[in-house]
Amino acid sequence: MNSNYEIDIYKTLEYTNSYIDGCTCIYCKNFRTAFAIHNANKRLNDLGLSVDSAVEIMDFPREDGTSMYYAYFSLYGELNHDEYIIYEGEGVTMTLYPIGSNKLLYGNMGDNPPPLVLELEVELPWVLEESREDI
Ligand SMILES: [Zn+2]
Repeated sequence: MNSNYEIDIYKTLEYTNSYIDGCTCIYCKNFRTAFAIHNANKRLNDLGLSVDSAVEIMDFPREDGTSMYYAYFSLYGELNHDEYIIYEGEGVTMTLYPIGSNKLLYGNMGDNPPPLVLELEVELPWVLEESREDI
């Protein structure tokens, strides 16, 4: 057991499988499509999460056509910090926060939300055939 945090992968996976984000906007779709083929997607899967279970996805377009994405996922487990980076590499940063942390840009507002939130920060290219509308 890691003394910094512990993820209940089984319980998280159960929640993940019951939570499928229905958002069909092209920004969320681009995130899901591009990150699914990113090397770090396996890190997400190892935690019991999948791109389809992001509770919130924020897209910040850049002039070069890429976007910075901030995606938020709910997890079960324990965290002995106010925030803790659990993975950094391949252009990806994954940080764990307790739900309710005021450092979060997004908090799960559902009934009985899981106690932890994973913030995934990643720069991704635009991979959809549809072009984005805001640039
Ligand atoms: Zn969306």
